[in-house]
Amino acid sequence: MKKHNFSAGPCILPQEVFKEASDAILNYNNSGLSIIEISHRSKDFVDIMEEARTLALELLGLEGKGYKALFLQGGASTQFLMAAYNLLQSKAGYVNTGSWSEKAIKEAKLFGEVIEIASSKDANFNYIPKGYEVPADLDYLHYTSNNTIFGTQIKDFPTTNVPLVCDMSSDIFSRQLDFSKFSLIYAGAQKNMGPAGTTLVLIKEDLLGKVQRQVPSMLDYQVHIGKGSMFNTPPVFAVYTSMLTLRWLKKLGGIEAIEEVNEKKAKLIYSEIDLNPLFKGFAAKEDRSNMNATFTLVNEDLKETFDAMCVEAGINGVNGHRSVGGYRASMYNAMTMESVAALVDVMGDLERKA
Ligand code: PMP
Repeated sequence: MKKHNFSAGPCILPQEVFKEASDAILNYNNSGLSIIEISHRSKDFVDIMEEARTLALELLGLEGKGYKALFLQGGASTQFLMAAYNLLQSKAGYVNTGSWSEKAIKEAKLFGEVIEIASSKDANFNYIPKGYEVPADLDYLHYTSNNTIFGTQIKDFPTTNVPLVCDMSSDIFSRQLDFSKFSLIYAGAQKNMGPAGTTLVLIKEDLLGKVQRQVPSMLDYQVHIGKGSMFNTPPVFAVYTSMLTLRWLKKLGGIEAIEEVNEKKAKLIYSEIDLNPLFKGFAAKEDRSNMNATFTLVNEDLKETFDAMCVEAGINGVNGHRSVGGYRASMYNAMTMESVAALVDVMGDLERKA
């Protein structure tokens, strides 16, 4: 039986994508060859890479606006340093909304002055800081749009002349935003886009060429742009599967359509968290993430019972991150309403039983 998979990433992908990707492993497009044994320079794969890059720009509304899409390796963690390597000449600002922001800050400090513009560390990152000033002299200002571990999500981004850089690893393609507000967006594939192994980077080309330092080729955005995201052997299977997921999203009606479903799923789980006296939400209500709902049991003695009921109902991956504890239900694009309802049912059953 297929489980209800709430894993934070790697995570669920659309079932039809799993099927198509599996078929392609054995025999890509009836070619008699596997997708993972053909040359990345073959027309078949070059077409896949181009379709993936175009779909990413198209779905985000960035086509014809001076952006390039790249499928790189090294995870979002490599982007923490690559962004600073390529863009930080003197001073950068970071809004610290959790562990991933902190990791990005640590890497950026290797390249220049880093100012923490705002932070929610004082409350174990359970809210999004607001009402801060953005200094005008920053090379860029960095955000983590969705805090996978803490279950908070930034709803409003400032309008400023400072270039915005955003780690959208855990909410890209999930909600409508004016993506052209950002000069650089990066996201590990393994939540809303595909398997682990590739990282999507969207970069406005006019942002580049401003730092004095020499950048090693593999870490230089300009080099990857110049080679059409094929400077070296790309992670072919991760790119192919990401392309299939982007095709799936386009067919569904794009971000506008999936956002509607994501809002319904989030509403369902958060109303159970708020109405069921056995559970308590972790994140401040106005900052709650539509992707990762974090919550705890009011009475920890019920943990064993609740965990057993989840297993019985085929619910997988709801354990919270160790820095928050409790539970985390990750509800990425491919998660169905039916799976969220299954979890909500178990939460309701616990209340009836307790
Ligand atoms: N940023 C965010 C918001 C994340 O959720 C994660 C991973 N869960 C990362 C960065 C790190 O990504 P990776 O493991 O691909 O380096």
